[in-house]
Amino acid sequence: MEPVHIIGAGLAGSEAAWQIARAGVPVILHEMRPAKGTFAHKTGDCAEMVCSNSFRSDDDVMNAVGQLHWEMRAAGGLIMATADRHRLPAGGALAVDREAFSAAVTQALQAEPLITVVPGEVTDLPSDGNWIVATGPLTSDRLAQSIRGVTGTESLAFFDAIAPIVHAETIDMTVAWEQSRYDKGETEAERRAYINCPMTRDQYNAFIDALLAAEKTEFHEGETAGYFDGCLPIEVMAERGRETLRHGPMKPVGLTNAHKPDEKAYAVVQLRRDNALGTLYNIVGFQTKMKYGAQTQVFRMIPGLENASFARLGGIHRNSFLNSPTLLDDRMRLRQRPNLRFAGQVTGVEGYVESAAMGLLAGRMAAAQALGRDLPPPAPTTAMGALINHITGGAEAKTFQPMNVNFGLFPPLDEARGGRKGRKDRYPAYTQRAKDDFSAWLAAQ
Ligand SMILES: Cc1cc2nc3c(=O)[nH]c(=O)nc-3n(C[C@H](O)[C@H](O)[C@H](O)COP(=O)(O)OP(=O)(O)OC[C@H]3O[C@@H](n4cnc5c(N)ncnc54)[C@H](O)[C@@H]3O)c2cc1C
Repeated sequence: MEPVHIIGAGLAGSEAAWQIARAGVPVILHEMRPAKGTFAHKTGDCAEMVCSNSFRSDDDVMNAVGQLHWEMRAAGGLIMATADRHRLPAGGALAVDREAFSAAVTQALQAEPLITVVPGEVTDLPSDGNWIVATGPLTSDRLAQSIRGVTGTESLAFFDAIAPIVHAETIDMTVAWEQSRYDKGETEAERRAYINCPMTRDQYNAFIDALLAAEKTEFHEGETAGYFDGCLPIEVMAERGRETLRHGPMKPVGLTNAHKPDEKAYAVVQLRRDNALGTLYNIVGFQTKMKYGAQTQVFRMIPGLENASFARLGGIHRNSFLNSPTLLDDRMRLRQRPNLRFAGQVTGVEGYVESAAMGLLAGRMAAAQALGRDLPPPAPTTAMGALINHITGGAEAKTFQPMNVNFGLFPPLDEARGGRKGRKDRYPAYTQRAKDDFSAWLAAQ
């Protein structure tokens, strides 16, 4: 049988290899480390965790990432089984002994007769065979060049510039209002495409002071500050002058406060719809290097966002990722070259768990193809299905930035109560539905 080739033995590539071998299909796993390293990886081990040692919340009832853990365990995932064996005490989080974890993943892959690990960098996208590209946020330059040659130069980003994303139901619409600047747009929906949060002069000044005082993260060594072209962090804009933001992303022009039409706002923060479901909104132009705790405090100073709950916070990182909504089909294949699947962080998910989950899916899909079958993705009501649905179609392609799993990606349940207070009922209903639908997907294979 023709083997499946995987480029990259990170979190995604390792999980994909495991899933393919479990299906009885041979795998060739290409990994460039240790001969060629990255600025973040320190070892030659598979599935190295480059920064924190946490797989985040393990609560599979109230937390979307915990639900993703549950699904990966149910699918016999290597990453979760190994994490469980090397777990460290960390409250409700799944933290691991990182060295023992990666060593054990490496050993498991090497011990599997159907897996061959081949050292060395792959520099060109292959034009035939059954391949999975799982080269992660630090894809080597030569391969990145080749990917851009096939997909177009705009389709593979080298940095993410993530503006914070808010759960729409937690925005106070008695303060904020829907309107596009100068009421632009052909349809009523387009004319109301943004949510606007007004600020008085005092509120603006207090906000700028908080922004300047907030704790920031530094770039990692070797992570050049390539953000200077076009996506400056808001705090850097504020450092350039107190009024800079008011003439940039917070300009108040072309907008009329629907609640107080006679009051002219001194500044306006705009939020733009981030997914087709309309459950998530990103704060326009608010990419930032503020630390997470500081972000929550500072952004809740924005009128209308006092009780905001964040689906993800902002950031700017070195990160190679595809514009997946335009490039990948729902089987994770590159539309232009269906012999290539992409998996992991390079598809525009963010985080160890999400990357490994996309490896699990790509692995199962590639194995099915090798066996002459077709495997559809799990339903979008599951954590894995919600993620793949987001990156391959649900997300806005124009503003696509990497995404963590969160309940904002799940189709709403009609009968569940909305708002922050409804979460106690809503989240268990989401995770129960996800477990039922994921089990059905597994049973159908
Ligand atoms: C500095 C930094 C800090 C991070 N911190 C965190 C964190 O704390 N928590 C978190 O959840 N996520 C974090 N991330 C994101 C993290 O990298 C991903 O969540 C996860 O590692 C992605 O898994 P992956 O398999 O897609 O990529 P990786 O785990 O990076 O695996 C990709 C593999 O491909 C190999 N490779 C690349 N190019 C080639 C090539 N041409 N040929 C052969 N092999 C190749 C690489 O050597 C690597 O082993 C961080 C990322 C960076 C860059």
